[in-house]
Amino acid sequence: MKYYDKLIFELSKPGRIGFSLPETLLADKQQLPPKKPATLGTVRGGTASEAQRWGPKDVFQGQAAAGSRIWREAPLDLPEVSEVDVVRHYTNLSQMNFGVDTGFYPLGSCTMKYNPKINEEIANLPGFTGLHPLQPNETVKGALEVYVGMDKALAAITGMKHFTFLPCAGAHGELTGLMLMREYHQSRGDTARTKVIVPDSAHGTNPASAAVCGLDIVVVKSKENGLVDVDALKGLLGPDIAGIMLTNPNTLGLFERDIKEIAQLVHDCGGLLYYDGANMNPLLGVVRPGDMGFDIMHLNLHKTFSTPHGGGGPGAGPVGVSDKVLPFLHIPRVSGFHGNFGIILRAYAYILMLGREHIKLAGKLATLGANYIKESLKDCYKLPIPTVCKHEFVFDGLLEDNGVTTLDVAKRLLDYGFHAPTIYFPLLFHQAIMIEPTETESLETLDAFIAVMRRIAEEAKADPEMLHGAPHDTPIGRPDETTAARQPVLKYE
Ligand SMILES: *Cc1c(COP(=O)(O)O)cnc(C)c1O
Repeated sequence: MKYYDKLIFELSKPGRIGFSLPETLLADKQQLPPKKPATLGTVRGGTASEAQRWGPKDVFQGQAAAGSRIWREAPLDLPEVSEVDVVRHYTNLSQMNFGVDTGFYPLGSCTMKYNPKINEEIANLPGFTGLHPLQPNETVKGALEVYVGMDKALAAITGMKHFTFLPCAGAHGELTGLMLMREYHQSRGDTARTKVIVPDSAHGTNPASAAVCGLDIVVVKSKENGLVDVDALKGLLGPDIAGIMLTNPNTLGLFERDIKEIAQLVHDCGGLLYYDGANMNPLLGVVRPGDMGFDIMHLNLHKTFSTPHGGGGPGAGPVGVSDKVLPFLHIPRVSGFHGNFGIILRAYAYILMLGREHIKLAGKLATLGANYIKESLKDCYKLPIPTVCKHEFVFDGLLEDNGVTTLDVAKRLLDYGFHAPTIYFPLLFHQAIMIEPTETESLETLDAFIAVMRRIAEEAKADPEMLHGAPHDTPIGRPDETTAARQPVLKYE
């Protein structure tokens, strides 16, 4: 353990400060009228001991309604550290993390591709970051135009008519889309449609969003080849079905070839088709959900369109609709309050920069990379579905059973500087390893990953015990997964 691996509280020495402020305003703060609330800025700008005196109690002083109930009784115990301690502490912490900027991150279903920094720069331009949603419209025309341009771009990419930018995540988009579906049926007096069909390979958010929307979930099975069982689907369709939620390519990375027939069947029974577009990456510029017969869809701008995904960062899940559903989309469709503007801006810059021609390449290269890894490793990892995949595919653990699990493989990858793929999802296989390399990786990176995966397969034969204990070279070894999830220690005591 390095010296700076200590918690910041352990580095604290009374009276040590990171910077000094001129005395002026703060000097006679004691005389401020009691009703005047100190701003949060005052607390953050002062030294630790000032913050102790001017803690949340003062922040809430002007808000009688908040009441003394939540006033702090003991002084706030903030760490007192010098600037260099703070810098080293957080710089070291940042290096204990893993991100797409530090290494290969083949997280299936979640598209962790490299996001060009130029899009970040554009979203950071002061003319954009300084905007306020309450500004008069005539002062924010450029920003509103971004929504209009983005609506057009996404409509061209997906074949939908129009989009709403309100939803801030994929799951949020799903809920919005399902509410539109419900509205569509109810406006026609068709109130018996309370069920939504979801394949057994679906992302967990699909049934979850349906349940939150008050719909009952009917599961349609996949066939041996990983595709929706159309005969089983026929048996489920009826006057109680509001629609079906599909992702295509599905979570096994397989294109649902029967999509035209599925769309026909669902529409004939009076239902709508919802497209989970979180995995739009392989289809960019090649195939459009609108042309496949989908009526409602969401996109994950974080994942496909230049915003890193994961760790609960900001996202955007715009929802697009066909002509049929358009009357139920909120109006105005463009306003200063719509969604995570910075994410939309970044995605717009990304799309314009790629343009019509190059956007096609993204999906094709992502597909090529996934198939390359799949074919290069199938002699050491179990490949339950051997057909050509799209942007991702699933192994079912090691080919040879030495008691080494998918979790062991995933943990060992960290020792070699690779982030683990998605594991134990989808639920169709017991030892699922879901790999999605994305289009942004070089052949050398893919080859290095393949070499390490092969090496781990060798280690599994020679020394399974060593793998059960992996990772060995990371700041934290292998925590007890259950305890870490159920009783996380997130607070310094
Ligand atoms: C990531 C993902 C979602 C959910 O998106 P969030 O932004 O995490 O809510 C839904 N469906 C699929 C297929 C996904 O990969």
